[in-house]
Amino acid sequence: MTAAYDPNNIFAKILRGEIPCHKVYEDEDTLAFMDVMPQGDGHTLVIPKTPARNILDANPAQLNAVMATVQRIAKAVKVAFQSDGVFVMQFNEAGAGQTVFHLHVHVVPRWEGIALKPHTGAMADGALLADHAAKIRSALGQ
Ligand code: 5GP
Repeated sequence: MTAAYDPNNIFAKILRGEIPCHKVYEDEDTLAFMDVMPQGDGHTLVIPKTPARNILDANPAQLNAVMATVQRIAKAVKVAFQSDGVFVMQFNEAGAGQTVFHLHVHVVPRWEGIALKPHTGAMADGALLADHAAKIRSALGQ
């Protein structure tokens, strides 16, 4: 059985404005922001605004809204970073690599021959993340 949603997880705090993030996009149902420990330039996270631990307890409306935003962000990061492709990944429960227990999808620009950095590796410079968020917002036309 899946554990209960913890309203004190870090992404719930971001949604409540209790801790900052480098916002890229938001609509009524979803928020997209820069990952603080990016596995590559432009690594963005997309989350629903309503509580869900991961794909195992999310409802179809949450998944639909998140994936619509994932597609929007994937197109924007490809343009913003002139990448060869875009990697989309999502983990469910600790055994599968999940470390923050609010549903999120990783959207990462990729280039042929360039490896991803480690998952939850080094913190990126805040000014760099702000610059990358601005590039993606610009590609989104915002
Ligand atoms: P997971 O392992 O759960 O799929 O991924 C969680 C992601 O959230 C990791 O890639 C990690 O770098 C990122 N992350 C962890 N804490 C924070 C935070 O406080 N702010 C942001 N923007 N990202 C975070």
